[in-house]
Amino acid sequence: MNEALITPITLSASVRTRVKIPIHSRTSKQRFEAEMVTFSGLSDIGEHLAIVFEPLNRSPYVRVHSECLTGDVFGSERCDCGEQLDEAITMLGKLGGILLYLRQEGRGIGLYNKLDAYHLQISQGLDTFEANQAINFPEDMRDFRVAAEMLQALGIFEVSLVTNNPDKIAQLEKNGIRIGNVIPTGVFVNNTNHSYLRTKIDKHHHTINLGEEPQ
Ligand SMILES: [Zn+2]
Repeated sequence: MNEALITPITLSASVRTRVKIPIHSRTSKQRFEAEMVTFSGLSDIGEHLAIVFEPLNRSPYVRVHSECLTGDVFGSERCDCGEQLDEAITMLGKLGGILLYLRQEGRGIGLYNKLDAYHLQISQGLDTFEANQAINFPEDMRDFRVAAEMLQALGIFEVSLVTNNPDKIAQLEKNGIRIGNVIPTGVFVNNTNHSYLRTKIDKHHHTINLGEEPQ
């Protein structure tokens, strides 16, 4: 968005394998033709995945989703990751675009540490970020450079980014991806995740409208 922030850098990742796999949205039950893409030469060791939905235009819709096993797979109500992932699949499947699925479980601290942090949140009343600090991790260890590497390996240098997170915008721009548009994601509030979403807004300036406070 701000051209002054964009610094061209040389990234060395390349596509490793492309596999066509039909997938479906769990809520809308719609079926989509998808291509799962793996990479060589990414700057961290995670097995990150791009899921490509044709057609791709000059500035395709892109959603960067960080892995959340509890939310994505098991429908945990402590966060809204599963709903956000399903919304992204439905939108990108209909319109075309790329889902970048980053293996950064628990804001990069890993599954077991995330569950330790949940335990502290429940037992001591800490919020997500305070709990991470209490177990000696930064409040957010995610690094979105790898998302820029994946896009560049796919030949994508400008995107319409689907996000409420200003940090994703800044990190992609810093790593050479032009942000043509920003499309906000939906918000999926329940009684359990309300304080988690409130913390995202208060501490990380996410652009989320929570609407009515749940009862
Ligand atoms: Zn989650």
